[in-house]
Amino acid sequence: MAKKYFAGCDVGSTYTKAVILDEQGNIVAHTTIRSKINSEQSAVAAMAEVCEKAGLKDSKELSYLIGTGYGRNKVPFADENISEISCHAMGVHVTDPSVKAIIDIGGQDVKGISIDTDGTVKNFAMNDKCAAGTGRFLDVMARVLEVKVEELGDLGDKSTKEVGISSTCTVFAESEVISQLAMGTNKCDIIHGIHKSVAGRVSGLCHRIGVRDDVVMTGGVAQNHGIVKALQEQLGHEIHTTPLTQYNGALGAALFAYQKALKNK
Ligand code: ADP
Repeated sequence: MAKKYFAGCDVGSTYTKAVILDEQGNIVAHTTIRSKINSEQSAVAAMAEVCEKAGLKDSKELSYLIGTGYGRNKVPFADENISEISCHAMGVHVTDPSVKAIIDIGGQDVKGISIDTDGTVKNFAMNDKCAAGTGRFLDVMARVLEVKVEELGDLGDKSTKEVGISSTCTVFAESEVISQLAMGTNKCDIIHGIHKSVAGRVSGLCHRIGVRDDVVMTGGVAQNHGIVKALQEQLGHEIHTTPLTQYNGALGAALFAYQKALKNK
């Protein structure tokens, strides 16, 4: 009998992520690609890549596929779509059932999600329609500083002096960074200040949903340890990250696909 595979595809504003699980619920392949302007094209490209990695011809060979994220309605051949809030909760709950809250920072939004003991969503809050505190804010700052977002964490660690970035608005903060550079301020100190500014913005949202202990940070920005550290300092407690942080939504969708396919058996 042919083996069965289950998948999740998270079409995000910046990156599209896909995960394939086998019949035992183990991850057999995952992939991440830069999102295209068209969500359907992003999903097609990510699914083609992840299917190839798993040794499958295409998405039609999957037993169940769930779309999630910003472009979740645009995943071709998806059996259904589920909100990324539920998928993030599912992703971390299966990895670690003791987790009570999630801080997800993606390209365009920040979400605080508190989860119940069974992995369902208890409460959530999102940023307003503004880039402050999001991956986009960090992408813009990295561009101005002529560094890669991947380097921000390590560079911020080298800071020796406090530099405050007071503007939360991306456009004003960009001017502030340009002025600091013109005054000769060290890039590492500016980056540390940017991390503190993002953490300040995100911690306000965490307080709104009562995020306390057993918190996991998910999303692409969780790969920046400078943000994780700054947020820990602001909130006054430890924040965990998962190795597959950026895939967490796609993993949650794949886990839902796995459960649904088993239920329909
Ligand atoms: P979305 O689902 O909204 O597309 P993601 O969760 O994929 O967002 O996160 C995208 C953001 O993550 C980017 O805007 C970028 O700032 C940040 N990012 C991506 N890769 C890295 C990395 N290796 N290190 C630090 N930050 C990263």
